[in-house]
Amino acid sequence: MTNSITWEQIKHFDAREFDDDLHPGSGEEMNMIIVFNLDYLWERVFTFTKKRPKIIITQAVDLYGEHGHSDNSYHLKENGCRAADFIIVTDLDPRVQYKLVERQGFGGIGIYYDWKRYGKSVPIGFHVDPRPDEKYQRWTRRNGEYFYLIGRRS
Ligand SMILES: [Zn+2]
Repeated sequence: MTNSITWEQIKHFDAREFDDDLHPGSGEEMNMIIVFNLDYLWERVFTFTKKRPKIIITQAVDLYGEHGHSDNSYHLKENGCRAADFIIVTDLDPRVQYKLVERQGFGGIGIYYDWKRYGKSVPIGFHVDPRPDEKYQRWTRRNGEYFYLIGRRS
């Protein structure tokens, strides 16, 4: 498999930010298409706010499934290290943050309102992955229960 995007082309992130914290250096395994899209998202937020945002990757590579992800998680190395969880440090309204993330075209987007950073709630956090159209999904979590918006009748 060829992967033509290199870290040298990425302006706003470096590989370490994507590390599985149990395995320093593992950020190099990260799928570069996701990284490239996050780099582009940074630009979208900057264009929108006219301020340099900080996008903090809270979890990306899960090398050996040691972070509680399911077997089919795109975070896992065996599934290509193709997922990233992040928060955008910005005063942008969470709705607008979502709008900009959505615009980036990710096949899977999880929207989280229950994340904390330094013990403080963050207004919104995101999971993104490049799942194909037949698995296209948006979800959120409320009181620990996951709600999937697409494709399930109940
Ligand atoms: Zn995730």
